[in-house]
Amino acid sequence: MNLSPRIVVIGGVAGGASAAARARRHSETAQIVLLERGPDVSFANCGLPYHLGGEITDRDRLAVQTPASLQALLNLDVRTNTEAIRIDRDAQQVVVRNTQSGEESAVDYDHVILAPGAQPLHPPLPGIDLEGIHSLRNLQDMDRIKADLETTESALIIGAGFIGLEMAEQLHHLGKKVTVVELQPQVLPQVDPDIAAPITDQLRSHGVEVLLGDAVESFSQEGSLITARLGSGKELQAGLVILSIGVAPETSLAKEAGLETGPRGHIVVNEYQQTSDPVIYAAGDACETADPILGGRVAVPLGGPANRQGRTAADHLFLGEKALPYPGSIGTSIVRVFDRTVATTGYQTRRLEAAGVNFDQVIINGGHHAGYYPGATNMTLKLLWRRSDGRILGASAVGVEGVDKRMDVLATAIHGKMTIDDLCHVELSYAPPFGSAKDPVNVAAFAACNIRDGLVATVADPTTLSSLQVVDVRPTQVAELRPLKTSLPVTNIPLPELRGRLGELDKARPVATICAMGKTSYFAGRILALNGFDVQSLAGGVTGTPSLLEPASTTPAPAMPSTSPSPVTEADQNLDCTGLACPGPILKVKEAVDALAPGATLKVTASDGGFTRDLPAFCEANGLELLDLKEEKGLVIGTVQKPLTPQSAPPGGKASNQDATLVVFSQEMDKVMAGLVIANGAIAMGGQATLFFTFWGLNALRDPAKGPVEGKTAMDKMFGTMLPKGLPALPLSNMNFAGMGKKMMVDRMADKDLPNVQGLLKDALAGGARLVACSMSMEAMGIRREELIDGIEVGGVAEFLGASSKSGTQLFI
Ligand code: FAD
Repeated sequence: MNLSPRIVVIGGVAGGASAAARARRHSETAQIVLLERGPDVSFANCGLPYHLGGEITDRDRLAVQTPASLQALLNLDVRTNTEAIRIDRDAQQVVVRNTQSGEESAVDYDHVILAPGAQPLHPPLPGIDLEGIHSLRNLQDMDRIKADLETTESALIIGAGFIGLEMAEQLHHLGKKVTVVELQPQVLPQVDPDIAAPITDQLRSHGVEVLLGDAVESFSQEGSLITARLGSGKELQAGLVILSIGVAPETSLAKEAGLETGPRGHIVVNEYQQTSDPVIYAAGDACETADPILGGRVAVPLGGPANRQGRTAADHLFLGEKALPYPGSIGTSIVRVFDRTVATTGYQTRRLEAAGVNFDQVIINGGHHAGYYPGATNMTLKLLWRRSDGRILGASAVGVEGVDKRMDVLATAIHGKMTIDDLCHVELSYAPPFGSAKDPVNVAAFAACNIRDGLVATVADPTTLSSLQVVDVRPTQVAELRPLKTSLPVTNIPLPELRGRLGELDKARPVATICAMGKTSYFAGRILALNGFDVQSLAGGVTGTPSLLEPASTTPAPAMPSTSPSPVTEADQNLDCTGLACPGPILKVKEAVDALAPGATLKVTASDGGFTRDLPAFCEANGLELLDLKEEKGLVIGTVQKPLTPQSAPPGGKASNQDATLVVFSQEMDKVMAGLVIANGAIAMGGQATLFFTFWGLNALRDPAKGPVEGKTAMDKMFGTMLPKGLPALPLSNMNFAGMGKKMMVDRMADKDLPNVQGLLKDALAGGARLVACSMSMEAMGIRREELIDGIEVGGVAEFLGASSKSGTQLFI
């Protein structure tokens, strides 16, 4: 082994600088020449967008090392402004040219490490070379863009990949009007559409114009503005254009030297980064590597792989086969776009389909930390695995916080060739501010195993829903606030009612269950499957497939998240609803508003994305004034004011003082009667009446004419015999005297021609009163829907709250 080899490194940034530094740590006597075409070495190209946007204020911080510091620290012979123009393999020389003087010379080598990187694509479109059209690769590009930004108010970004979106965000921060054009029908074409969709919303909600499925065909300039003509015929004008449509490996040197290149032009290397000439190594964006997931070869132009490949090349150069081989790249990447983060690792759906892999996938929603700890935000996580053996093939996630942690865990799992079973029991750090006892990573694995084990089938294609029986298992109030498309054959059966309402579904036809986040619909799916239904559940819920919802314009006034400062500085009360999934926030708001003094304000913070729609709708329904609504760092913050008088509901609002909502808790005949009298009165006044029968009150709804119900447990049967069966059996609250008092009362009322309780109930139903049996109490008391009188509904607390929000009279009996 030659401990003092002459090493020429071509390219002085990620891969090259890493290789040169590692080589020096193997040998103090090696001659290491680092050639760099540009004026800078070892700069942070990943930080360039953030200096342009002003987040990294000091330009010098981007120069991680300088030629002088590399000379001083590593004794490297750094030659900037020096381009390698030829590799003479016979003479073992690299021919170089000084880019300033044009002078050529040769450098002898024992080994070459090629790390020339990749250059931004520059398609031959008319006008592409106009001034004001930029790519971003190095500090000089950055300086030119920065200078142009001084005099322009608008920017057009071509390409919605990772760098394009970083630029969109940063230029928006500078106050520029930003437009993004993307050829594909989604932003971030590297990730699956369902994970990318929230990013499009995020861009648009910040005022960035996003044009998808369209491509620039030519550019022209008029004065200081550039006009881009798109394939669709649209014309866009901006002061500055940034091309961010991908990169091509810089491999002309390698090709001319006769080194083997792959189908897309990348330099072919082995696991030690050796090219087809074993004394020449290659690292970084210019080369392709092994694909550790499916086998074969991949090219992954990212900073991490480039740095580690450079290290591997230097290790092998000195250690031979004792060096740790490079295992290949899986493509783990991450980007922040305003308040959202998207990350991906391994294969995504399209690539797996193209590769013909038999795979499955699941999408779940979960909090980035424990829901009960303030500030929890939602994250959507997708996991893809091979059907045959459960091996994890890829993952992606979008959320506000904690996306990086989950993606790194999943990248490690892919690297370790783990399966969905392994992932179920990966033990991750947990305390309330950091995670959950069941981390989203574990939950995704549980869900994957449920699918693999046949416990649940997922809706593979939402467009097929119209041919199924769709059961929306969200609480009715939520289903009304955020309705599913009217074109879908939907029945709303909230989960707690499902067991009692199975008869409403046709067992001969397949059913699809849908909820907000995907969890409740899975529970519903299990109930249906165990009752013999052919059922599919919508993974990720409507949060993951918002296209299933009616568009915002037809649902109650959605609020546009705004970044403008709130006019309300302090509210009388604050309510933290972070970490609560729908309908939690609205139920909490209802509770808080009820306790609020007239005229007082309430500031609510929620992490449920749908709250931007729910709060305005809730305010409208309840005559509250919505003073402010905005989104900040993924949290929805709204401020509402309670009216000074209940009459101050806005015109057109749904509140009506004639409406009455009653909770019938008692099973005493006279109390039930009183409730029915009030209900009928409300109807007579032109209002609506809703009676929510709960616990003992349920006995009023039992139909004495209906026989015993099959399949009850012994305990349920015992309860049934001990409790009064229907109106005729209800006792009196006072002077009952073992039924004597009640008989007297009934007779007296008949004498005086007053209506009896059965008549009152009949009148109420005929008048359109809603009689709702509390599903939870039914479960507790073992009462089944089949034994209740006809014409009643079964509902949860949301039913009551929904009705009471519109009522002038609310009573507990
Ligand atoms: P480079 O770092 O590009 O270095 C190649 C160098 O070789 C260049 O300086 C070039 O001038 C020089 N060179 C080329 N040919 C010759 C020659 N013939 N003679 C002499 N010198 C030559 N990756 C991430 O993982 N995360 C990120 O957040 C991220 N953000 C990015 C943001 C931007 C704006 C850019 C441009 C890239 C980003 N990347 C990111 C990608 C990452 O920077 C690259 O994958 C990585 O730098 C590739 O390293 P490399 O050594 O192969 O090439």
